Amino acid sequence: MRRRLLYLLSALGIAVAGTVTADVVAPNPASADGCYTWNRTLTEGSSGNDVAELQVRLAGWVASGENLAIDGDFGPATARAVSRFKDAYGLPVDSIAGQGVFNKIYALQDADCTPIHFSYGEMDDNCGANNFNGGMVDATTAKRNTLRMMWQLEAMRHKLGDRPMVVSISFRSVACNRSVGGASNSRHMYGQATDFSTRSGPTLCQMYHAAKTSGFEEILGPGYPGHNDHTHVANDTVRTWSAPNC
Ligand SMILES: [Zn+2]
Repeated sequence: MRRRLLYLLSALGIAVAGTVTADVVAPNPASADGCYTWNRTLTEGSSGNDVAELQVRLAGWVASGENLAIDGDFGPATARAVSRFKDAYGLPVDSIAGQGVFNKIYALQDADCTPIHFSYGEMDDNCGANNFNGGMVDATTAKRNTLRMMWQLEAMRHKLGDRPMVVSISFRSVACNRSVGGASNSRHMYGQATDFSTRSGPTLCQMYHAAKTSGFEEILGPGYPGHNDHTHVANDTVRTWSAPNC
């Protein structure tokens, strides 16, 4: 009940001393963004689809080796991710996701919900097919996995000084993966892996290290067999980080 009252007050633009900071959501009758618009301030204890939408966009703002669950529950890990995001983009640092955070996300995302520096068009080459079909998961799942990964990549890119990162390959169908000699269990077939080429602004080793704090479990680079000309980052259930030459 108390939370509902606080939410009502914050929805009306009324700050409650000691409970709501300046980063509250103002009355917002219209859609603020072509992709998704948040309509309330989110804090630890909040839950719902709006929290899950936030978590997707913060998935790259974790501690080294951490993975942010997209579960719709705003817990301590999400709170820390909000703080890191605010710090990285020059917002007053606390763990509350309000208008300041949402405005920054609106500025960072395109109408199709992808982050501004990455597009589905560079992730779905799939040996020239330009789609997410034929993988180890259905195309909808592969695309959703890719979206989460793209937000992790956007975080990586910002951590590396906002220099261009050049995707050489991301999604591959099973047949495409086989034709290029990819590993039989490759995360590329799930929409969970991206390879970056040496044409990227950051070096392969800089990308290798930045991926560690961007939520990636599988990070392979120079010195790992077959990875001297690219850095591979992927979401997985087990951690494999290897780049002996970095
Ligand atoms: Zn790869």
